[in-house]
Amino acid sequence: MKPLILPKVKNPDLMPFHYRILGGQVLLTNDAGYHAWLSKEEFGDFVGGTLDPESQAMENLRSARMVRDENAEIDTIEKINGRSGHIFEGTSLHIVILTLRCNQNCVYCHANRKPKGAKGYDMSMEIAEKTLDVIFQSPARELTIEFQGGEPLLNFEVLRYMVEQGYERAERLGKTVYFSLVSNLSVLESDDVDFLVDHGVMVCSSLDGPRKLHDKNRPFGKMSSYDSTLESIDSFKGAYNSRKHDLSLAYVNVLATISRSSLSKPKEIVDEYIHQGHKVVHLRPLNPFGMGKKIWAKEGYKAEEFLVFWTSAMDYMIELNEQGTEIMEKMASIMLTRILTDRDPNYMDLRSPCGAGIGQLAYNHDGKVYTCDEGRMVGAMGDDIFQVGDVSTDSYSDIIHHPGVRSLCAASCLECLPGCSQCAYAPYCGVCPVYNYVVQGDLVARMPENDRCKIQMGMLDYLFLKLRKPGIKDLLSRWTETRDRSSVYRRRV
Ligand code: SF4
Ligand code: SF4
Repeated sequence: MKPLILPKVKNPDLMPFHYRILGGQVLLTNDAGYHAWLSKEEFGDFVGGTLDPESQAMENLRSARMVRDENAEIDTIEKINGRSGHIFEGTSLHIVILTLRCNQNCVYCHANRKPKGAKGYDMSMEIAEKTLDVIFQSPARELTIEFQGGEPLLNFEVLRYMVEQGYERAERLGKTVYFSLVSNLSVLESDDVDFLVDHGVMVCSSLDGPRKLHDKNRPFGKMSSYDSTLESIDSFKGAYNSRKHDLSLAYVNVLATISRSSLSKPKEIVDEYIHQGHKVVHLRPLNPFGMGKKIWAKEGYKAEEFLVFWTSAMDYMIELNEQGTEIMEKMASIMLTRILTDRDPNYMDLRSPCGAGIGQLAYNHDGKVYTCDEGRMVGAMGDDIFQVGDVSTDSYSDIIHHPGVRSLCAASCLECLPGCSQCAYAPYCGVCPVYNYVVQGDLVARMPENDRCKIQMGMLDYLFLKLRKPGIKDLLSRWTETRDRSSVYRRRV
C-alpha cells in the first residue's frame, strides 16, 4: 500500500482526530466516537487548510466534530462524558466462583477444573456471606451477581442462599440486583429450573455448534453434552412459557467458544444457531488464560486464522439477513453500538479503562478476590498477581484501593497506551492487561505482535468497510437495537 504523505498541518480549525487508511480511503475518528471518510486528496486538503468550506466533505467533517466551531468542543466533551459513564458507577459485575468442581471435561477448559467428587473446592456459606458483604459495599446502584465455576450448579445450596440473601440486602439498601448463571446445564433438577426462573436468574450456557462439534469440544463421558444442553434449554423454555413470559425476552443465552476444530465450520455453527431458534450468535475466540501450554498448542490458533473464520461467518450472516433471516453476531453488535450510537454497552473488555476492579470483581470459592475472572484463572495456575483482596479480611474499599486495581486501570487506558493512543479504533476498542501479561509477560502490550489487538483491528476493519455500503449499513444498524429484558430478570417470588 502506498504510504500517505501528510502535508504540513496548516488548518487552525482542526479538532483532535485519529486516522487510518482503509479500502483506499481515509477513515477519521475522534474520542467522541464520531467518524468520517475522506479521499486521500480531500484529506491532504483538509489538513493543509485548502478543503472547500462549502464541500460535502467539509459538511461531513463538521457533523463529525472534526472542525472547530462554537458547538464542536462542548458536544465533544458531552459525548466523551456519556461514553465514559461506567467509570463513575462503582463495581457493578461480581463474579462468584461457587465451586471448582465440574462434571464435564471441555478441551479448552480454562478453569483449572477439579473432578465432580473432589473435596475442598466449594464455596462455604460463611465465605458466601462475606462475599455478599463486600458486593453490597460497592456504591453501584445496580449490581449483577454472576455465578460461575467449575460447574456452579454442583453447589446449588450456596447459589440459592446467595440469591435469597442478595434480594433481601438489595431491598434493604435500595439497590437493584440481577443474577446470572453460567452453566453447562447438565446437572439440572426440575426444582432448580423453577427456582432460577421464579427468582429471575438469567441463564447462560454454551452451544459450540452442531452435535458432532459440540460433543468433541465438550466431552461428557458416554453421554452427549449437546443433547443434555438442548434438553435443559427446553426445560427453561417450558418454565418460561408456563409463566407466560414473552419468549422473545425470556430465553437461555448461549455462546460458541471457537476451538481449532470450529475454524472450518463457520456456516455450520451459524446454521445450528438458527435451527435452534437463536437470533444472536457469540463467536468467542479462545483465550490462553489459565490454560496449559499443551492445551493451547492443540486447540489454539493465530489471530489471522480466527479472522478468516469470523469474516466468513459474518458474510454468511449478512447474506442470511438480506434473505430475511434475523441473526447477528454479538461482538459485532457491541462494536457497532460503540460506532453508531451514543449508548455505552459497558462491555468490560471493550472499554477504556477496562472493567478490572472498577467494573468487575471475581470472588474465588475460598474467598480470594481478583480483578476479574481472567485474573482469577491466572491465579488458578499458581500466579496470584491479580489477587486484590480476600473477603475474610478486606472490605470493598480495601479491595478497590489495592495497587493491583490501579495498575490495571492505568494499563488499560487506551488514551495513553503505546499504539492505542494513536489508533483510529481506540474509541471503540479495549485492551486486556491480563491477556498481555499471560501472552507477552507485561501488563502493557507490544501491539504489533498482540493477537488480541489483531483480532479487534480485523473486526473493526471489516465493520467499517461494510458500513460504507448503504444497504448493509442499514442492516448492521439494526444489530445495535437491544431490547430491555429486565422485566423478566427481576425478582418474582
Ligand atoms: S488494541 Fe489494537 S485495535 Fe485496539 S485501540 Fe489498541 S492498537 Fe487499536
Ligand atoms: S483485565 Fe482483561 S479480562 Fe480483566 S476486566 Fe480487563 S479486559 Fe477484562
